[in-house]
Amino acid sequence: MTLADAFPEITKRREPLAPYTHLKIGGPAEFLVQPRTADELRGVMRFCKTNNVPLRMLGGGFNLLVRDDPVPGAVVRLGVPGFGTVEVAGKTVKAAGGANLFDLIARAVQAGLGGLETLVGIRGSVGGSVRCNVGDRSGEIGSAVRRVAVLHEDATEHVRTRDELTFGDHKSDLDEPVILWVEFELTPENPATLMKRMRRAWVTRKGAEPLTFQSGVRMFRDPPGQTAAKLIDRAGLSGYRAGGAEVSPRNGNYVVAHPGTTAKDILKLMDVVRANVKDACGVTLDRELNVW
Ligand SMILES: Cc1cc2nc3c(=O)[nH]c(=O)nc-3n(C[C@H](O)[C@H](O)[C@H](O)COP(=O)(O)OP(=O)(O)OC[C@H]3O[C@@H](n4cnc5c(N)ncnc54)[C@H](O)[C@@H]3O)c2cc1C
Repeated sequence: MTLADAFPEITKRREPLAPYTHLKIGGPAEFLVQPRTADELRGVMRFCKTNNVPLRMLGGGFNLLVRDDPVPGAVVRLGVPGFGTVEVAGKTVKAAGGANLFDLIARAVQAGLGGLETLVGIRGSVGGSVRCNVGDRSGEIGSAVRRVAVLHEDATEHVRTRDELTFGDHKSDLDEPVILWVEFELTPENPATLMKRMRRAWVTRKGAEPLTFQSGVRMFRDPPGQTAAKLIDRAGLSGYRAGGAEVSPRNGNYVVAHPGTTAKDILKLMDVVRANVKDACGVTLDRELNVW
């Protein structure tokens, strides 16, 4: 029995993943599963564990490159509204793993709660964003996290508290298969002040990204005390192309996928960038982009 037989209403076989990712490239998932409830999600996880089916979580696909070949096993997406809730209670905001990061930030600012507003403009789901500890010099999401509910491979739930969590530069130790919900502890502030800060952050962030009509993703983490973008520029790689993939002239740490780009082009470009930065600057860049 396959996943498609066990969960026919929520499973698509050989579903192309490109439309579900920001880069819009890559091969199909053997099974794309979109559970409607947490119980259904647990059932899918138990099926995968019992039958040795690999399981991957797909968020908004903003930090993801899907290779050109089919992705074996289950790709699970928390796409229904039940996995997108955001609730405010006092100084805490609880967001489901599939919630949109923008909705979380907007609800917090509306409620006069500060701590997330400078992340405005970063796109993704709450689960993917906390796992990747999104942010920049203005702050990172991990510093506002109070508790995270995760599901282990066997679908058992565990709530990890602040002292059990480690956040690093664009990474965390949240390596359980599923982030079910995240609770944030924020600071009461005047909503008008938060709005002002949010607008400033939006303008700064958009000015340092590829143009809005382009599909571009970040490639590498910033090494301590340096930025990957500056190192890539210093290595003379701004505008460098491999097939349809190009190092963004607006920010060297973004690869832009022009029409017709393949995952292979992007991987080749990243290899060249890493090798040239090592030669020119003596720094080995660490990949931030998740590759399936
Ligand atoms: C134009 C652009 C600008 C960006 N700017 C920034 C920036 O300024 N700062 C920054 O930090 N990042 C930035 N990013 C990166 C990106 O926005 C974040 O990493 C994003 O929040 C990832 O969330 P996602 O839902 O898209 O995750 P995905 O890309 O779908 O997945 C990323 C990882 O998270 C895992 N995952 C997703 N959902 C879950 C879940 N519910 N449970 C467990 N694991 C899960 C996936 O399996 C994968 O390993 C930018 C990206 C783009 C395209």
